[in-house]
Amino acid sequence: MTSLVINGCAVATVNAQRAEYAAGHVLVDGRRIAGVGPGPAPADLPGARYIDAAGCLATPGLVNGHHHLYQWATRGMAVDSTLFGWLTELYPVWARIDAEVVRAAATAALAWLARTGCTTTTDHHYVFPRGGGDVLDATVEAAREVGLRFHPTRGSMDLGASSGGLPPDHVVESLDEILAATETSIDRFHDPSPSAMLRIGVAPCSPFSVTRELLTEAAALARNRGVRLHTHLAETADEDEYCAEHFGCTPVQYLDSLGWLGSDVWLAHAVHLDDRAIGRLAETGTGVAHCPSSNARLGAGICRTRSLLDAGVPVGLGVDGAASNEASSLLGEVRAAVLFARAAGGPRAMTAAQALELATLGGSRLLGREAEIGSLEPGKLADIALWRLDTLPHAGIADPVAALVLGPPPPLDLLLVNGEVVVEHDRVVTVDEERAAAAARRASAVLDRR
Ligand SMILES: [Zn+2]
Repeated sequence: MTSLVINGCAVATVNAQRAEYAAGHVLVDGRRIAGVGPGPAPADLPGARYIDAAGCLATPGLVNGHHHLYQWATRGMAVDSTLFGWLTELYPVWARIDAEVVRAAATAALAWLARTGCTTTTDHHYVFPRGGGDVLDATVEAAREVGLRFHPTRGSMDLGASSGGLPPDHVVESLDEILAATETSIDRFHDPSPSAMLRIGVAPCSPFSVTRELLTEAAALARNRGVRLHTHLAETADEDEYCAEHFGCTPVQYLDSLGWLGSDVWLAHAVHLDDRAIGRLAETGTGVAHCPSSNARLGAGICRTRSLLDAGVPVGLGVDGAASNEASSLLGEVRAAVLFARAAGGPRAMTAAQALELATLGGSRLLGREAEIGSLEPGKLADIALWRLDTLPHAGIADPVAALVLGPPPPLDLLLVNGEVVVEHDRVVTVDEERAAAAARRASAVLDRR
């Protein structure tokens, strides 16, 4: 049975052959892709809705490998700071969040991710103020409402300033509190089934905000429960210095010594890596979520994506938190990834198609879901973006993938997640965009007043 036919569009499959069709079709049967091919779709399939997609490009839905949704309420602050300066200014503001603020921020952030082609996103939530209610639950509710496939991680910080960490003491939790809450979130939310819309990960925040004990216990817990591990690593030169001073080694050596590298782990940033570190990530199958705009916004540096890919490291893309990337557009990260790779490594460092691959198949590998999402192939889940490329900014660009990756963000004609429509004609249809914007504005104002 075919329920939906997307017909007459260019198709970038990102399948094993990386097949692209100048004119092709995609068939959807409920929540799964039923067929993909060149030329027109079979006519008169009984009961199917036909979409005339001439002038459009169909791609796999984009997969966002790193975000902090709550930060949508704290954008535009410390705009000219380094990472450590930016964090120091924002920790006290983040200490005032609660479930209501997070719900509004997450809804707006998720709706905007959808508008920029994202069908699956992670979230790294690591601020849990006392008396702030269930902020992780608030993000899960927001993702259900917007309709994105969601991989939230239960983040954590337990190393306050009085113990040598960067965050102030009042925003950290105790080790026991963190482990108990992490276990609870896995029990409540984690769905291991193949077509899951919701899976939990475990994510202590960074080497300079968590203890060695927390990293060790969190890894044991995640592996015991069969969920994935995530953290920030090797983001800035300041972090390198912190690790040298406190641990006598590099950030990657530190994680390695704690058993934290493996194919069940993905790291945000991984900017400051030497060849040996890249070799260890490759040997262990540890993934990297490359966040080019955030790295540039904070002046952190440029990730060595070409070297990582050559070594065989799984690489995906992330927008990172909205407070260090006010654009928060996943398609924008695709463009940044290819431009940054070439600016750093020359014109052959990355192709436009490879950049799209990072955001699709690459992202699915970070989450261990490459068998289910990340490409347009029969049997995979129907997570599909349909981009309109025949309007003023793109009309006449011969190569549709180049138009999408190198051109300005095109209108998103259709976004399907699990076969359900989330965006149509460049508008989110699951939530009201104006109401989401108004709620986000109120959430920011509430934080400002507290
Ligand atoms: Zn981050």
